[in-house]
Amino acid sequence: MKTSGLFKLTGTVQHYDWGGFDFIPALLGQPHPSPKPCAELWLGAHAGGPSLVDSPDGAVPLTQLINSSPDRVLGAAVATRFQNTLPYLLKILDARKMLSIQAHPTIAHAQAEFAAEEARGIALSDPKRNYKDKNHKPEVHVALTDFWMLHGFRPLEEIAASLSDVVELRALMPDFGERLSQAGHDAAARTDLLRELYARAMTMPQAEVDSILSPLIERLEKQPPTNKDEPDFWAARAAREFPLPGGHRDRGIFSIYLLNLVRLQPGEATYQSAGTLHAYLKGTNVELMANSDNVLRGGLTPKNVDVPELMRVVRFEEGKAVIIPGQDAGNGETLFSTPAEEFELSRLECLPEHPYHRTHQSGPDILIVLKGEVVASCAHGVVRLKNGESLFATQDADYTLTAQGEPATVFKASVPSSRRVG
Ligand SMILES: [Zn+2]
Repeated sequence: MKTSGLFKLTGTVQHYDWGGFDFIPALLGQPHPSPKPCAELWLGAHAGGPSLVDSPDGAVPLTQLINSSPDRVLGAAVATRFQNTLPYLLKILDARKMLSIQAHPTIAHAQAEFAAEEARGIALSDPKRNYKDKNHKPEVHVALTDFWMLHGFRPLEEIAASLSDVVELRALMPDFGERLSQAGHDAAARTDLLRELYARAMTMPQAEVDSILSPLIERLEKQPPTNKDEPDFWAARAAREFPLPGGHRDRGIFSIYLLNLVRLQPGEATYQSAGTLHAYLKGTNVELMANSDNVLRGGLTPKNVDVPELMRVVRFEEGKAVIIPGQDAGNGETLFSTPAEEFELSRLECLPEHPYHRTHQSGPDILIVLKGEVVASCAHGVVRLKNGESLFATQDADYTLTAQGEPATVFKASVPSSRRVG
């Protein structure tokens, strides 16, 4: 089996209910609108949908290529660091409906809790199972269109203003403003207050949730909000998209007022580290994450919400969301740096007269063309890629990308070299 060089890659489309009908099929050159929603295109070796590589032996799962020679395909350093697995999963995501509010664990917490759930004999397929693997799930994503999301707790003064301006929400914690003034600049007191507020939202009896949220939603329904940059818009939408049986209200709606509502411009990114409460609301993006399924949910979902476990995982840290603009790494590359050891995401602008060369010993890489057409070449061969097509480059493949005719845009997932991480 060929184990070095460039391999055309075919991803897996996930048809989750919240996905759009056009963006992903159009990118892949398939008929659209598609009959089924297309939420995510997965490019990687995740067990839930491994991509296929074109090899001289026909199409084989990327996992098979990796297993045939981990040291060569991944590079010896990556193979050792990540137990012979590709440590990242690259996605194209199209959110038509809102996704659940969620947070991901630290790696130490995931390892301990995975072992604990195994010991308790909770099946991996059990809907109440929280930890599907022993890994953390840091995520970075770059918006391809205007992209709305919730990201981390707002500064407490903003929360106080919201809880006072939105009259129905005052009952959530009537003395919040007063207690915030008492806390002043005492960081520990502020953290405790935030934790108490969120715990109250997540644990108060359902009747109390309804008594606060029903009048709010009914008021919003009388004059439907149209401004996507206001929490009211998403609260009204959440009430429509996540109705609970019996007319009850999803307490996840509180979080829309407690978290930073962010609108990313195309090309802007955020990083979700362990414990950051977040939700994707609408738009398309390129997302790169560690290979894990460990998600704790905090509402706006039909799936299990384990509040005590969520409270252990969420980081009660206030502040404005940090938006990563991307930094010019030269050579047509814009790098979206994060502290993650598993992955590195960058955007390449390739020009016909100015090819991109892979210049450092990172990798292995997955590339996806999002505009134009490129020719990828290395000592082992040449692959031509049209818009929407993808490539896997083994760690030892020093390749060049040349745009054909017009400038091309390519996103690249890679594993940072340990030098870059350190
Ligand atoms: Zn997430």
